[in-house]
Amino acid sequence: MRAVKDPRKRLLRVLDLLEANLGVPVWDGRKDALEVMVLTILSQNTTDPNALRGYQNLAAKLPAKRATGKDARKLPRDADGQIDKVALRLSNAADAVEPPDWVAVANLSQKELAEYIRAAGLPDSKSGAILALLHWVKDVTGKYSLDAAIEQLGLDASIQALSQLKGIGVKTISVTLIEATGADLCPVDTHVHRILNRLGIVSTGDNRDKTFTLLKPMLPLGRAYSLHHNLLTFGRTVCTAKSPRCGECFLRKLCPQVGVEATSRRSRAG
Ligand code: SF4
Repeated sequence: MRAVKDPRKRLLRVLDLLEANLGVPVWDGRKDALEVMVLTILSQNTTDPNALRGYQNLAAKLPAKRATGKDARKLPRDADGQIDKVALRLSNAADAVEPPDWVAVANLSQKELAEYIRAAGLPDSKSGAILALLHWVKDVTGKYSLDAAIEQLGLDASIQALSQLKGIGVKTISVTLIEATGADLCPVDTHVHRILNRLGIVSTGDNRDKTFTLLKPMLPLGRAYSLHHNLLTFGRTVCTAKSPRCGECFLRKLCPQVGVEATSRRSRAG
């Protein structure tokens, strides 16, 4: 699929329609950057509820010495009282769930940490990334505070240094920065990447980092947070990976993929 001639114009139209139909998500304030980044690492290649389970298991095994008073009952729930998979944001989790004792986590072997976070999947690589992050933060600041590292190095140098750590890529960094600090960025996860390609705003195959790079200069000031969260909701409910609901989609009039997805689904089934 080729990108359209004026992708920014289409992006602005999509932004408007998403906000008209889904509302305007607003950043809900500063959070602990280390907590958000560990949650984001745990969410790689899995669902947010699975990431949350891994995080809660870790915090249950190695509870922080002093409770902060966070309350997991504040997490969004569905009608059955289960974690609401559509509404859940990792930032909700950072706000509602007690973190583990980071000193104790940093002293675990990779194998031990992998056992504690197994519920989030890919335990070997995620445990390596979390330990690399903790050791880097301690080296830079003398304590386990990613906020202090960002403040000390500045945003750009922090991004540069974090992206050198194994298992921590552009998406993980950008999610952490928008949720924890309110940076005006639109992280590109699987939903954002798929939908922008389907809509012809970018044409980037399976290269999510390229989508992030192309999208950045197109974004109108102050609206990246809204775009990111609305695309997440839209990708989970309407423009899903396997069976997009094109018939009831409010973007169908400007989507070059309308009909194509249904046809390719039918031919796969046949
Ligand atoms: S028309 Fe279909 S493919 Fe296009 S954005 Fe809507 S759900 Fe996605």
